[in-house]
Amino acid sequence: MRYEGNIFRPPSEARSYILQVTVGCAHNKCTFCDMYKDKKFHLRKLEDVLEDLRMARKYYSRVDKIFLADGDALCLKNEKLLAILAEIRRIFPECRRVGIYGSARDVRRKTPEELAELRGSGVGIIYIGAESGSDKVLSAICKGSTRAELIEAVRKIEDADIASSVTFISGLAGRDGWREHAVESGTMISEMEPSYVGLLTLMTGPGAPLTKEIQEGRFQLLSPQEVMLETELMLEHINVNRPCVFRSNHASNYLSLKGDLPQDKERMLSQIRYAKEHADVLKEEYFRML
Ligand code: SF4
Repeated sequence: MRYEGNIFRPPSEARSYILQVTVGCAHNKCTFCDMYKDKKFHLRKLEDVLEDLRMARKYYSRVDKIFLADGDALCLKNEKLLAILAEIRRIFPECRRVGIYGSARDVRRKTPEELAELRGSGVGIIYIGAESGSDKVLSAICKGSTRAELIEAVRKIEDADIASSVTFISGLAGRDGWREHAVESGTMISEMEPSYVGLLTLMTGPGAPLTKEIQEGRFQLLSPQEVMLETELMLEHINVNRPCVFRSNHASNYLSLKGDLPQDKERMLSQIRYAKEHADVLKEEYFRML
């Protein structure tokens, strides 16, 4: 119940109890992100985390889901994560699912057995930011992971029977690289076959290095219509053989899309094609937010 700095969580964890186990992001270098730029990364003491759980029990009569924050809480050693998960089971026996942010590096460091242990102890979903399937874009934004590493990480999560929720960002390659970003992201999703894909649209905060590039004219943002072209191209290149929930219903998106792939692909493409011809269905700029 004690939080250090601003707390972020995925939209689907809006109703979850947020337990801060790390402060900040161990990577903290992505050029579009300023979420944790004001925090020096550190791990919270185990006793403080466990004490927070006991405090939360006094406030919440029912907790269905718990989300472990901050940036990449999965960087914790399994020993510490398992201690936290055991206490969650003891104090919140009604909790159905624990979610956590993780980087590709964190996942790749875990053995399949360690991921299976986390699954067996309640971790049901790992959120991972891929942002783009293009190595060129990943390098430009200082993601710290390659396309191959991201694919490997997501496959490893899914193989451990944990759902992966992978984020991509429309407009992240600007006007120069949108086609490559779209095609490579679509084909990457096809190779990863994650349980969930979340598509945001680029918005940068004042502390993000990319904001400076935009202000100085070195990076051109896409117009709403160009975002539609990019999203259409991305979706055209997604071909999955197992169920994948696709959502672009974040507050930053111009057009809200939600569907189950592969069966809803044509319906969502029709929505995008309609929006290309009817700009009035797109969200106004002033309604967008991070
Ligand atoms: S996007 Fe994620 S990994 Fe990159 S700096 Fe922000 S929190 Fe860290």
